[in-house]
Amino acid sequence: MKINTFQNKVWLASPTMHGDEMKYIKQAYDTNWMSTVGENINEVERIAAQKAEMKYAVALSCGTSALHLALKHAGESLYGKPAIVRGALDGKRVFCSDMTFVATLNPVVYEGGIPVFIDIEEETWNMDPEALEKAFEIYPEVKIVVSVELYGFPGRMDLIREICKKHGAILIEDAAEAMGATVCGKQCGSFGDYSVLSYNGNKIITGSAGGCLLTNNPEIANKIRKWSTQARENAPWYQHEEIGYNYRMSNVVAGVIRGQYAYLEDHISKKKTIYERYKEGLKYLPIQMNPIVDGTEPNYWLSCMTIDKDYMCKQVRGNTTVFYEKEQGKTCPTEILEMLEKYNAEGRPIWKPMHMQPIYRSHEFITREYNMRGNLTAQQNKDVSANIFERGVCLPSDNKMSEDEQNIIIEIIKSCF
Ligand SMILES: *Cc1c(COP(=O)(O)O)cnc(C)c1O
Repeated sequence: MKINTFQNKVWLASPTMHGDEMKYIKQAYDTNWMSTVGENINEVERIAAQKAEMKYAVALSCGTSALHLALKHAGESLYGKPAIVRGALDGKRVFCSDMTFVATLNPVVYEGGIPVFIDIEEETWNMDPEALEKAFEIYPEVKIVVSVELYGFPGRMDLIREICKKHGAILIEDAAEAMGATVCGKQCGSFGDYSVLSYNGNKIITGSAGGCLLTNNPEIANKIRKWSTQARENAPWYQHEEIGYNYRMSNVVAGVIRGQYAYLEDHISKKKTIYERYKEGLKYLPIQMNPIVDGTEPNYWLSCMTIDKDYMCKQVRGNTTVFYEKEQGKTCPTEILEMLEKYNAEGRPIWKPMHMQPIYRSHEFITREYNMRGNLTAQQNKDVSANIFERGVCLPSDNKMSEDEQNIIIEIIKSCF
């Protein structure tokens, strides 16, 4: 195959600026609100809440800090205020998505909690409601669930929410990747008792950094806003009754986000076109694209594919290394990623599941077949997330990729089989 290397790298997902961002940054500069206070922050909170159909948004330094404060608040409301050197979740189990970016659940550990991982379902790549039910059978005392919408393609967050309600558990929705996506016509970010957005540089819209905590409860919003600004009490001096954090969003960053929000729909429609082109271009290959679940509308943030099992060449992955054997008509994620790299395009393996991560390997992992006796073979204890990881690739999904570039990427993928 004769394909020329891309002159400019084709990225997985890079920021796309439009000009308005600069106007709001400049406004912060010109008015000297170069601070964690200012009009841009107020506007981001207003717009974020309105778009996500939630009453309150708290603008924070990143999605991870939003998750941290959500977990801390949920923990305190359930288990009481901890002694000063302890976390709000000390020794408590929290059910978490297994297939996700690690930031979804690291904050559980910041607060001393124990993540218990819930498998995904094959049909949605998102938390399996059946496995979650199983988890509540085993640990009925668990009161917090952290669930993500993977790559902007939501699963059954509506069911996850119902299951949480039924068991009196708090739902923390990690909508970091799913801004603008919907489930049953409802915005992602509107399902959690606490929901989280991220404006990290690779997300569908970005502030270079930044995040929001969303809630319908004004007390939660006010408390988290207070914690995020060092937990100062209302007094003439710095007065402290609680532990605080420096987690507030900068007014400069907020300017970028404020400018970006106007282009959220535009970005979604570009991402959708990219996904549909892949779907069409790869339709005769033995692969599956991210599943689109009935009743949901994704934001199409990252287009991903899995290689059908029978078309996987031999691949052995160690902790940080991988080996594969080239076979005619077959391929594996590594071969595709190496080929993309060779032509100057960026792909990535699917998120490595949390129960396979060295740091979390000893934690419990609950599949729909899990039983307490632990007497299932690996085959019976069908581990969907490991299986998707084994065969999955995130494809270059950059807004600014041209149709020609994408056609070449499709040819590159075809050439791997
Ligand atoms: C990006 C991301 C986060 C973290 O957001 P930051 O703003 O980078 O802290 C959390 N969860 C998921 C699923 C993400 O993709």
